[in-house]
Amino acid sequence: MPTRPCWVEIRTRSLEENYRFLQSLAAPHAELLAIVKANAYGHSLDLCAPAAVRAGARWLGVTSVEEGVAARALCPEARILVIGGIFPGQGAAVVEHGLTPVAWERWQLDELESAAHAAGAPAGSLPVHLEIDTGMSRQGVSPEQIGAALARFVPESPLKLEGVMTHLFAADEADGAVTEAQLAQMAEVLRRVEDTGLYAEWFNVGSSAALLAGQAGEIAALADRHGMKTMMRPGLALYGLAPQFDPGFEPREPASLTAARAQLQPVLSWKTRVTSLRSVPAGAVVGYNGTFVASEPMRLALLAVGYADGLDRRLGNRFSLLVRGVRAPLVGRISMDQAVLDVTEIPGVEAGDEVVILGTQGTETITALDHAEAAGTIPWEVFTRIGQRVQRVAV
Ligand SMILES: *Cc1c(COP(=O)(O)O)cnc(C)c1O
Repeated sequence: MPTRPCWVEIRTRSLEENYRFLQSLAAPHAELLAIVKANAYGHSLDLCAPAAVRAGARWLGVTSVEEGVAARALCPEARILVIGGIFPGQGAAVVEHGLTPVAWERWQLDELESAAHAAGAPAGSLPVHLEIDTGMSRQGVSPEQIGAALARFVPESPLKLEGVMTHLFAADEADGAVTEAQLAQMAEVLRRVEDTGLYAEWFNVGSSAALLAGQAGEIAALADRHGMKTMMRPGLALYGLAPQFDPGFEPREPASLTAARAQLQPVLSWKTRVTSLRSVPAGAVVGYNGTFVASEPMRLALLAVGYADGLDRRLGNRFSLLVRGVRAPLVGRISMDQAVLDVTEIPGVEAGDEVVILGTQGTETITALDHAEAAGTIPWEVFTRIGQRVQRVAV
């Protein structure tokens, strides 16, 4: 059955090329884990997780055990890291589906250990990545308290310390001082791990910004000292967008960032169609609360997209979309399921015309960053808020 025309097109080939490009930036220092959390940043886990694996990703990153179970069904061979940690009662699913949990709370280690025992798992068979809080105050053991966590990884435990992880949350800042301080803390943590007689295979750090800031070499040097391998975790860049960096970098931004701007390809386009057209006289009110009043006779196009599809309500009267290759302003408030474009100046617009909400039409392009700037948010939020009812189609 034909559906309401509001859809997202996903170019999985672009995602594959982005992954290979990013891996070439990381090589030989780091292996990349492909972040596919939150339905692959709204791009469809079903389409994107297998594409990342085709491109060579051996590791996928998801938020939750539920997302991990979904990713496992799609990618039977991949390692799947649950970066948001586990919740009470989820240990059994971690074991059953072969997921790799990030953990930092004592009760999480208890939960995993008892689930592994219940499944008859042998010693050292359940890999865990231990998160360290190096300044974000979000999740992770503080470096001072790491001793108690490390003491859990005794040889007879089913738990194995496979990774030591942290989040470099300020890699986009020009002076790099926060990242330096975090890496100094991690150097100390890795020394503690070694002193305890443990060996973790992976030093697991950073996001797109840390990778594109060209820090893989410096990070890997730290891991090398302990015979560890480095894993980095790009998300946004995989979907074709280089994060905005602190303008303090300009004009000497990192070469890897410049290369990324030229190489990365957007994976997602978001489209709708003109539902119907009407001509209104001067004085006509458009949409809820009459926030737009026609100052002259106008031609208006109704669209099958609204805020329930993820089109930010704050874009009403302050953004434009593409129809017939031209930018047409959104007028009036955005409704839950509909929005209105002013097409007065665009000849020939007809019902059924394709409208690009995000993406390219002719020579014009609207990016997730354009949406984010108009709505006062960040591209990550723009992508992840595209509604569940918007179909994702591979192209
Ligand atoms: C989401 C996330 C990432 C990816 O971040 P990007 O900025 O999108 O590259 C990396 N690590 C962790 C822990 C995350 O939660």
